[in-house]
Amino acid sequence: MTTYSFEFFPPKTATGAAALWRTVRRVEALRPDFVSVTYGAGGSSRERTVEVTHRIATETTLRPVAHLTAVGHSVAELRRIIGRYADAGIRDVLVLRGDPPGDPTGPWVPHPDGFTHAYQLVELVRSLGDFTIGVAAFPERHPRSPDWDSDIRHFVAKCRAGADYAITQMFFRAEDYLRLRDRVASAGCDTPIIPEIMPATDVRQIRRFAELSRASFPQDLAGRLEAARENPAEGHRIGVEHATALAGRLLAEGAPGLHYITLNRCAAALEVHRNVTASHGAPAGSAHA
Ligand code: FAD
Repeated sequence: MTTYSFEFFPPKTATGAAALWRTVRRVEALRPDFVSVTYGAGGSSRERTVEVTHRIATETTLRPVAHLTAVGHSVAELRRIIGRYADAGIRDVLVLRGDPPGDPTGPWVPHPDGFTHAYQLVELVRSLGDFTIGVAAFPERHPRSPDWDSDIRHFVAKCRAGADYAITQMFFRAEDYLRLRDRVASAGCDTPIIPEIMPATDVRQIRRFAELSRASFPQDLAGRLEAARENPAEGHRIGVEHATALAGRLLAEGAPGLHYITLNRCAAALEVHRNVTASHGAPAGSAHA
């Protein structure tokens, strides 16, 4: 069965919170398989992740997946956070190593009493209860991996440490996903890899995200969005059209689901979802917005 899911981030302001909860309610009406909430680089943003995830679990019918990173945490702190999730009835965690705070491309320095790689956090979460565990996958390989062989070897080891599924980094070419999936399958690993879909409607924003995630942004798409820079409606149309075609191709090639980045607004992601489910079918019992 194809899964459909949506990603939110913890908002910083009251206006941002209002936008998030409006989006959560619209997404809820679609009955997705799950929604996820990203984990910030530190302090109050992390607290907001726990609060938003908790609220989704207790005040909506949605199944929330809590992102969790090892950045700046001792193992004892990680145990406490996982315990708080469990107390709130949250049984789904997307386990990540995270990037150095400040400069995500800077050197990785583990907490002296913490973890160096995500597989260690997978083992910890697995040891603490009956959680469903997701991990990260990188269609253009992880930017810190020196070569494909080590990238795939470490990804497979992370899955074998106890992951139930993986979600990819954003990407814009179906071939990148398909190559990763085939490499992982050739290494004897059948963990489902769900592609992340980011509708590229605003060239400036996408360039920034692509820089941060180091995803390649196709020149032709960039050129079309650049030409529509002063026309947001046209940018929206181009982004939705590209993401719909990408998502359709991925499902036709057997991708197990789609995970949409919403940026806490839903217009583009929901439009892509509507287009995709119109041609590929919605999960049983789901409603169309
Ligand atoms: P790892 O699996 O530890 O991999 C990191 C690097 O180490 C890779 O190059 C890997 O090959 C290598 N490696 C792994 N194991 C070993 C080993 N045993 N020996 C040597 N090398 C090894 N970040 C946030 O801060 N908050 C979020 O909410 C968040 N959500 C994300 C959601 C998704 C779907 C994705 C794809 C990424 C997300 N990220 C988030 C970003 C993520 O934290 C970074 O991309 C981070 O650099 C990689 O995390 P990882 O879990 O893949 O790390």
